[in-house]
Amino acid sequence: MADSRWDAIVVGAGPAGAALACRLSPQRRVLLLDRAPLQASGLPRIGESLPGAARLLLQRCGAFERFLAAGHAQRGATVSLWDSNEPRWFDHLRDPHGAGWHLDRTRFDADMRASAVDAGAVLIGDCGVLRATRDGGHWQIDCDASGESHRAPVLVDATGRTAAVVRQLGLARRIEDELICLHAYLPADMADTDQCTRICADSNGWWYSVRVPSGQRVLAFHLDADDAELRRLKTLPCLLEKARRHALLAAVLPLRADETVHARPAASAGLDWAALALTAPGFFVIGDAGLSFDPVASQGIFHALASAECAATAIQNADAPAARNAFIAEMTTVHAHYRQRLRGTYAAPIRYAQLPFWARRWRGPDLRSHEYEHAAKA
Ligand SMILES: Cc1cc2nc3c(=O)[nH]c(=O)nc-3n(C[C@H](O)[C@H](O)[C@H](O)COP(=O)(O)OP(=O)(O)OC[C@H]3O[C@@H](n4cnc5c(N)ncnc54)[C@H](O)[C@@H]3O)c2cc1C
Repeated sequence: MADSRWDAIVVGAGPAGAALACRLSPQRRVLLLDRAPLQASGLPRIGESLPGAARLLLQRCGAFERFLAAGHAQRGATVSLWDSNEPRWFDHLRDPHGAGWHLDRTRFDADMRASAVDAGAVLIGDCGVLRATRDGGHWQIDCDASGESHRAPVLVDATGRTAAVVRQLGLARRIEDELICLHAYLPADMADTDQCTRICADSNGWWYSVRVPSGQRVLAFHLDADDAELRRLKTLPCLLEKARRHALLAAVLPLRADETVHARPAASAGLDWAALALTAPGFFVIGDAGLSFDPVASQGIFHALASAECAATAIQNADAPAARNAFIAEMTTVHAHYRQRLRGTYAAPIRYAQLPFWARRWRGPDLRSHEYEHAAKA
C-alpha cells in the first residue's frame, strides 16, 4: 500500500476545499481529494449568486484573474414580494463591494480547482470511498479504491453538506429544518432579457428565479419535506402553474416547458463547534460541512471562501491550539448571527405568519431539530 506524507489533506474540492488549497499550497504540501470529477452527474449545479465582497477573498486565493476571465454575469437588482404584497427593489450596485455576480457554477467550481492545482496542490479528483483515522499523532486517510494511504498533521473536511469526515469521526451536526429545493432549468429564450433576481413568498414556501450566464432561467421553489404538495410539484407543468400565480414570476416564465424538476435538500445545518474543539489537533471543518446556509441567505459560497480563509490563517499560525480555538470562535459567531438573521427573514412575510412553513421558521427550530444528530463512528 502506497504511503504519502503531506502538510495538509483537504477532503472535498468544492469552493471551500479548493480555496483553502489555493491559500496553503504555495508554502505547504497539500493533497486535495474529491470523490468525483466535476459534472460526473451531468446536472447543472444550483447556487449561483455571489456577493461583491467575495472579490477580496478570491484575490487572496490568487483565483480572481481566472474568475474575471470566465465571464460570469454581473448581478442585477433583486425584486421581491416578501414582507409586503408590493414589489420591493434592491439594487446591489449600491453595495460598496460592487454588485456581485450570477455564476456559471460549473465553470466556477472547475476554475477554483484549477487555481488550487496552479498554486501547487496535488488534486486526486476521483478518490472514491475514504476512511479517516487518527494514528500516531497524525491524521490518516485511506482510499479504498486505490489502496493508498495519506498522512498529515492537518486534516480538513470540506465535503459540503455530506460532511463525510465529520460523520466518520462521530461529530454531531444539527439539521435545523427540512427544507427541499425543487428546481428546473428553463431553456434560454432570446426575448427574456431580464437581469433581476425575482424572489417571492408563497403560502407554503418561497420562490426565486434568475437567468444564469448560459441564458437558461432557473426556477426554484423551497418547501418543507413533509409538504403534501411536494410530489405533485416535481412535474414542471405543476411547478410552472403554481409559480405563474404570482405576477412577479409570470412576467418572466413561459406558459409551458418540458424540463426535469430536480429536488435537493437545502436545509440549514450546523456543526456542534464545541465538539470540534475536543477533537485531536489539526482537524478543521469548512464550508457547508461546518455550516450549510438556507438558500434564502445566498451566502453559501461566500462562507465557503471566508471559512477557508479563516482556516488558512489558523493553519499557518505557529501557535496551533490557540489558532484553532480562534477559528472555532469565529465559526461559532458566524453561526449565531446567521441563525438570528434567518429567523428575522422568515418572520417578515406576516401575511403567512400562521401557516406551518413560516411559523416553523420564525418560531425557531422544533425540539427534535434542536437535538444534534450523532452519526455512528465509522
Ligand atoms: C438550492 C440551493 C441554492 C443555493 N444558492 C446559492 C446561492 O445563490 N449563492 C450561494 O452563495 N450559495 C448558494 N447555495 C449554497 C452553495 O452552493 C454552497 O454553500 C457551496 O457549494 C458550498 O461549498 P463547499 O465547498 O462547502 O461544498 P460543495 O460545493 O458541496 O463541495 C463539496 C465537495 O466535496 C466533495 N465530496 C463530498 N463528499 C465527499 C467524500 N465522501 N469524499 C470526497 N469528496 C467528497 C463533493 O464532490 C464536492 O466537490 C445554494 C445551495 C442550495 C442547496
